[in-house]
Amino acid sequence: MNRNPEHLPSVIRHWIGGELVDSADGRTFDVADPVSNTVYAQAAAGGTADIDRAVTAARTVFPAWSGLSNRERATVLNRIANAVEARHEQLAAFETHDTGLPITQAKGQARRAAENFRYFADVIVALGEEAFRQGGEQFSYVVRTPAGVAGLITPWNTPFMLESWKLAPALASGCTLVLKPAEWTPLSASLWPEIFAEAGVPAGVVNIVHGIGEEAGQALVDHPEVPLISFTGSTDTGRHIIRSSAQHLKTTSMELGGKSPAVVFADADLDAALDSVVFGVFSLNGERCTAGSRVLVERPVYEEFTRRLAERAASVRVGEPADPATEVGALVHPDHYERVLNYVEIGKKEARLVAGGSRPDHLSEGNYLQPTVFADVDRDARIFQEEIFGPVVAVSPFDTETEAIELANATQYGLAAYIWTSDLKRGHRIAHAVESGMLWINSHNVRDLRTPFGGVKSSGVGREGGAHSIDFYTESRIVHVALGDVHTPRFGAAS
Ligand code: NAD
Repeated sequence: MNRNPEHLPSVIRHWIGGELVDSADGRTFDVADPVSNTVYAQAAAGGTADIDRAVTAARTVFPAWSGLSNRERATVLNRIANAVEARHEQLAAFETHDTGLPITQAKGQARRAAENFRYFADVIVALGEEAFRQGGEQFSYVVRTPAGVAGLITPWNTPFMLESWKLAPALASGCTLVLKPAEWTPLSASLWPEIFAEAGVPAGVVNIVHGIGEEAGQALVDHPEVPLISFTGSTDTGRHIIRSSAQHLKTTSMELGGKSPAVVFADADLDAALDSVVFGVFSLNGERCTAGSRVLVERPVYEEFTRRLAERAASVRVGEPADPATEVGALVHPDHYERVLNYVEIGKKEARLVAGGSRPDHLSEGNYLQPTVFADVDRDARIFQEEIFGPVVAVSPFDTETEAIELANATQYGLAAYIWTSDLKRGHRIAHAVESGMLWINSHNVRDLRTPFGGVKSSGVGREGGAHSIDFYTESRIVHVALGDVHTPRFGAAS
């Protein structure tokens, strides 16, 4: 059976200075799909020479791009959004083919990507600069300037949407840039060149260098002419990039891993909480940084909630990513699949398996796992502490509000948290006590693009989203102007 989407390329090249090019040394790497795990394309494997060429291209056009008015750049961003939307079907088909995400969820990612460009077009047009007045003596105003050539490094889960999440504010702010997409999922990024060309983005403003993280990614981090790195990926890689960035004192933004709690109190709307918990951890194949992968349930409803969660997990439709009926598709790569299966084996020793735990019977090949639920998970268990990044959830009981907060805070991570209760005072109390960058009360991960996005503890450093993204991609300069006579101590003057 031919599962390949239309127009699937067999070669994926870099895009540097407006041209599709091979690596300087001609090297490539294999790209496979997660359903058959067979290689369908060769992608250019970038290294130092390719990054250097891309940074030079970005530097050359930086004065022209950063010199446009905010309105002019916003017009281009809106055209990018149109070009993304026009490729909506193809984009979703590519994403599904390359990542294993269910097609219905990949369609949402394409829409969200377009929305990111429209949103940051609006932000940059509406942006004002601050001014401060000290009585009649002094007036100070802020001038924001684009920071320069931005380095963007992105992961393989929802690759196109996450790329857009960085591309849009960087371009809106007036930066030119080099993007290094994740090596397991370079396919959807192959659509950016025609999207940018159609939208009239000048050659060299956006450059894309594919390649292995330790080679192309590292070369970008090490490049002296790239003053800022926006990174989304694992905590270990983030730590390494911060260390490497110290050499050139780069500004970094780190959006890292998570092990987010969903805290369910007995007084919650349990039907709504169940829908949300199931969706929160199994959507996007569980390969979601903000997945509610630890479910903490108040003791009086613990057994019943866990039983219902297990039933729902057992009936989640696992199948071909391209099938519109599929709810959980194939995990991105055999190495990642192995890693997730390893956690399942660890979990079988640490806790009580109540759903899933193996490949579904009807899918004999591909990286498939039936959504898996472990109950009675101890706080010291590895499946409670470590990010699994697959359709696996750990459920634990709690007796008091204090214990719920302790358990919620008992990992190194602090990205998202979800609180289910009909007592709103308690909801706010817990939201303020849980160490996390983003919290939802009686909701799943519904985002407002204006709000800060990011985590605390090992889940990240810095915030992006809304004005925070513009802050990251610009430097603020303060200009002080005397309005009257300034009193200056007269050192060295004759008295
Ligand atoms: P990863 O850290 O392995 O790779 C991310 C990117 O970094 C890839 O492009 C990779 O090539 C590159 N990279 C690897 N080594 C590098 C190096 N030495 N120098 C420069 N670049 C390097 O992460 P992943 O496995 O692709 O993604 C999954 C992780 O991303 C999970 O931990 C997940 O929680 C996290 N994530 C976080 C967010 C968030 O917003 N907080 C969003 C999505 C994913």
